Amino acid sequence: MDLHLKNKVAIITGASRGIGRSIAQTLSAEGVQLVIAARSGELLDEVVKSCDSEAIPVAIDLRDEDAPQRLINIAVNHFGRIDVLVNNAGATKRGDFLELTEADWKDGFDLKFFGAVRCTRAAWPYLKVNKGSVVNIVGIGGRTGNAEFSIGGSVNAAILNLTKVLADRGIKDGIRVNAINPGSIATDRLQTRLKHLATEKNISIAEAAKEMALKQDIERFGTPEEVAHVVAFLASSAAIVDPDFQTID
Ligand code: NAD
Repeated sequence: MDLHLKNKVAIITGASRGIGRSIAQTLSAEGVQLVIAARSGELLDEVVKSCDSEAIPVAIDLRDEDAPQRLINIAVNHFGRIDVLVNNAGATKRGDFLELTEADWKDGFDLKFFGAVRCTRAAWPYLKVNKGSVVNIVGIGGRTGNAEFSIGGSVNAAILNLTKVLADRGIKDGIRVNAINPGSIATDRLQTRLKHLATEKNISIAEAAKEMALKQDIERFGTPEEVAHVVAFLASSAAIVDPDFQTID
């Protein structure tokens, strides 16, 4: 299916590895021009090399209050437009609630929640011009909390709520806002968790994977590509149910 995304411009945060990298590669294969952000410039350069379309790497710490606006400015200065914003960057510390510190909580919210708020606010006027879209990569922990994931779960729940707020607000400006709520996705991050579980229980990584999947009541883990394909669909006009969709003036 041609998603008609050729020559659109997308900003993807947290695109140096895992789900974000796969989103970059998938959109790039659709002909989307990219601005990809993460902390590591080296890893971003590798992603650029793997992309089919032009991709601008931006090594930036999105916990900094002014970083999102700088990122949006780079995209606008280079491409002159923004069609898609993917808020994907996120890293929240797991652990027992009583052991997590103020700094851990602040860190988690600064990056994933405030990063999304600030990127979206800064990109909004440009998205409005092109009737663009925002896709937030959230996480199942936002719906179903668990004892080890208090920061991540709270951040994700906040972003799910924000997504509905922005989706409602977007009707006025013709901007579509959606969230994707992945379960466990087979990334390096999951691999690290499996290694810890395997060591802790003195079992193999394959056995740890089986155990984790069983506990989550799933047949298998998802893949970054599956999430990326949903992003491509949501970012495209194929996701517009009513082609005569009018904005409210
Ligand atoms: P990952 O750890 O592999 O990648 C995270 C990305 O965010 C990297 O590119 C990293 O550079 C970037 N990043 C981290 N700190 C940053 C900072 N301070 N400033 C700028 N960029 C920063 O993560 P992933 O597993 O690919 O997850 C991506 C998103 O999907 C996250 O928001 C995560 O919460 C969510 N998610 C992941 C899973 C999963 O199973 N992997 C499940 C549900 C939701």
